[in-house]
Amino acid sequence: MRYGILADIHSNLEALHAALAVLRENGAESFLCLGDIIGYGADPNACCEAVRTLPGLGVQGNHDRAAFDATARYGFNPYARAASEWTERQLTVENRDFLVALPETAAENGFQIVHGSLDDPLFGYITATVSARSSFYRQTAPICFVGHTHIPAAFACREDSVLCAALPFRPAAPLTLKPGFRYVINCGSVGQPRDGNPEAACGLYDTENGTLRVLRVSYDIAAAQAKIIAAGLPNFLAERLADGR
Ligand code: ZN
Repeated sequence: MRYGILADIHSNLEALHAALAVLRENGAESFLCLGDIIGYGADPNACCEAVRTLPGLGVQGNHDRAAFDATARYGFNPYARAASEWTERQLTVENRDFLVALPETAAENGFQIVHGSLDDPLFGYITATVSARSSFYRQTAPICFVGHTHIPAAFACREDSVLCAALPFRPAAPLTLKPGFRYVINCGSVGQPRDGNPEAACGLYDTENGTLRVLRVSYDIAAAQAKIIAAGLPNFLAERLADGR
């Protein structure tokens, strides 16, 4: 089975379509959506509708929560807040209900999925071994897929140890999962990459040979930017897409 991994789509329909096309070309049959379908970009409803039709599993992200629960906007910068308020006004009842119903964590076939971290599902950032370790304490499956930081990363921990290490994880450096280890894996952000590479990021997990790849996909950034400006969302949210920040 090949899973396509999608995190932090953030209402960027152009990036989502490009990522889905490449994942399908690479044999993805089921999809894991790690939250933040909406927020920042100009296509919240179309992105919800695209994700709703995918086979697979999904969880709620902090921006998904913020669109129906303003307390989740605490800590948002002014751009995120403006986009969240705009998104709340745009969402159809069906798409809002879909987001409300998403669980905070889900599991299948030897893996767990969560937006942030297992110790703080919506808001926890796994950026380094110290935050990975707090999540590993609660991880019962060999793999946990996460999003939220918008930066591809992988951490491994021996099954009998609490010490963990960061692993290289780039398009040119796929991961081969080894028995006896547990992994936390972030395949990056589809709709708002922040690692300096503006290309959409997504992941491909092949359960047959135990490999994980991060894929980078070019998409029509200018089209996504034009929609953000036309919607009256902050210009910065358009500008950052070209810089991958
Ligand atoms: Zn996000």
